[in-house]
Amino acid sequence: MTNPLLQSWSLPPFSAIQPEHMEPAIKQLIKENLDTIEERLAATQDYSWHNLIQPIEEKGEHLSRAWSPIGHLNAVRNSQEVRDAFNSCLPILSEYSTKLGQHRGLYNAYKHIHQSAGFSELDSAQQKVITNALRDFELSGIGLPEDKQQRYGEIRAKLSELTAKFDANVLDATNAWSKHITDVTELEGLPESALAAAKQTAQSQEKDGYILTLQFPCYFAVITYANNRALRQEVYTAFSTRASDEGPHANQWDNHDLMVDILALRHELAVLLGFTSYTEYSLATKMAESPAQVFEFLRHLAVQAKPQAEIEYARLREFAQELDGLEDFQAWDAPYYGEKLKQKLHQVSQEELRPYFPEDKVLSGLFTVVNKLYGINIEEKTEHVETWHPSVRYFEIRRTTGELAGSFYLDLYARQDKRGGAWMDECKVRCEFSDGHINEPVAYLTCNFNGPVGDTPALFTHDEVETLFHEFGHGLHHMLTRINYPDISGINGVAWDAVELPSQFLENWCWQKESLTLISGHYQSGEPIPDVLFDKLNNARNFQSSMQLCRQLEFALFDFELHSKDNQHTKPDIQGCLDTVRQEVAVSIPPQFNRFQNSFSHIFAGGYAAGYYSYLWAEVLSSDAFSRFEEEGIFNTQTGNDFLTCILEKGGSEEPMELFKAFRGREPSVEPLLRHRGIKAA
Ligand code: ZN
Repeated sequence: MTNPLLQSWSLPPFSAIQPEHMEPAIKQLIKENLDTIEERLAATQDYSWHNLIQPIEEKGEHLSRAWSPIGHLNAVRNSQEVRDAFNSCLPILSEYSTKLGQHRGLYNAYKHIHQSAGFSELDSAQQKVITNALRDFELSGIGLPEDKQQRYGEIRAKLSELTAKFDANVLDATNAWSKHITDVTELEGLPESALAAAKQTAQSQEKDGYILTLQFPCYFAVITYANNRALRQEVYTAFSTRASDEGPHANQWDNHDLMVDILALRHELAVLLGFTSYTEYSLATKMAESPAQVFEFLRHLAVQAKPQAEIEYARLREFAQELDGLEDFQAWDAPYYGEKLKQKLHQVSQEELRPYFPEDKVLSGLFTVVNKLYGINIEEKTEHVETWHPSVRYFEIRRTTGELAGSFYLDLYARQDKRGGAWMDECKVRCEFSDGHINEPVAYLTCNFNGPVGDTPALFTHDEVETLFHEFGHGLHHMLTRINYPDISGINGVAWDAVELPSQFLENWCWQKESLTLISGHYQSGEPIPDVLFDKLNNARNFQSSMQLCRQLEFALFDFELHSKDNQHTKPDIQGCLDTVRQEVAVSIPPQFNRFQNSFSHIFAGGYAAGYYSYLWAEVLSSDAFSRFEEEGIFNTQTGNDFLTCILEKGGSEEPMELFKAFRGREPSVEPLLRHRGIKAA
């Protein structure tokens, strides 16, 4: 029997792909790839793009093409069998990538090509593939003498153990706390959906009444809506002391020592590789150039935002006093009164907006927006395309010339066997093969919106429309690329702090009157969204935006300070570092017992170590890119074409700063970000 994952197809044959095909296909392709590498390395001493890199890239493309539907089915049509098959592939793939990263022969061959006379004859994108590969080899310690290389391996292994333990502690501490409530009046203020969820939790444990937990949706509902102040305080205390030496489970899962060890090992790793700090190591693959530049960027924003944030905070405390005579405003009061104040000032509910955003209108409007911007045409294709669910649709994108640029699957509705959230993923990456044929890119665009009910079409909230635009922005980056080398094609090889540029950028068209008339129309009357609703929506957008910015700056500065050279003592003072940052940027200082840092998984267990600033960095780029459209017209075809050719088509083939400057004519400015967030420059 043939394995459909090993056959050549232009789109995945979803109905034929079964869990039992998955692991064997991945094993076989990895073996073929490793054989190809050894064969190419043995075939000559005079390595070139054509005799080494091209064949390896093509083989790599086969593997990604087979892996893509496996990961995708695990996310959108999950079952125990698919999950088991998916999980069994993970260690094999991770072993494979470690093997490649540590392959000295391959590294030397890349070095040979880099130093050969032929290098200068390669095009700039090919050169970029090679310099990126060498950089990544070196960042995985391959250039080190043997004893140091061994230490590198030990540190990596230890770090993955410690960061996993950090996460496990957070999870255990989160699950350890719950509160059983039988008297519903104690939960006054909670929305119906939150009450229903708490009731369901109780039922699942065969109890009456309600059970509150520290799972985020429950925590968020209580801290935002519960009228019961003592309850808010209790939940806040439990939540903000998870995995620490404070709170109801003090010292049971304390992450403190793990954090100290993680920081020390990261610093050692960076120094081993020749950097002076982990921040420098982190920036080696990012757009930001130096730790000093990141600090300056964050501090500049803080200076701009803090005065207005202080006014917002004072207004909030005043409001709590007016409303409830509250004199001693506390951390557990801020989200609660914030929500009340927001409702008072800008009463607008997302539910009220739904009738104006029926699926067909939103989609055709989105396609018109990108047609006006980039001249591309999008058409649905219904025949000869297999999907994983009857509600999934498939579209093709054609350039102005009629040439096929790429295509995408659109899977909009929530289902039980589908992972939550929204994302863009690659089905196929643009790639040119040695026989000259080109794979056009294919994307998966996945959301979790409500589907149609009876005769009523799917109706979206404005938040959901914005989410769709965001993911579509990533999708266009992937699909409109003209780069033929998978490593730097589309979103590949794009620096972490620049990759959200095209996605956040496209969101702007959800906030302009001119484009809203294209994407909105009442599903019964066809009328576009009324001005008064639109104005309310726009005003609510920037509610407490300076306070929010200060909070993001607090996280970003804390992360960056903690990983910088000045904080590398044998026993770093983590709390002290956070306290100092708060003195500088926060408008409210949390209570002494707060141990937010002990569950800050983004930086201690996720990929954001010395990189949390990336969220704001990318927002500067997207806001500033959009400001050119504000100056020249949001549907100016020349401006749209420039964004297409300078940014979207180029993928990771050039440094993001160069691409940005080519589009904007100068380096990025933070002024548009502040203006879009409603912050007046200080
Ligand atoms: Zn994104």
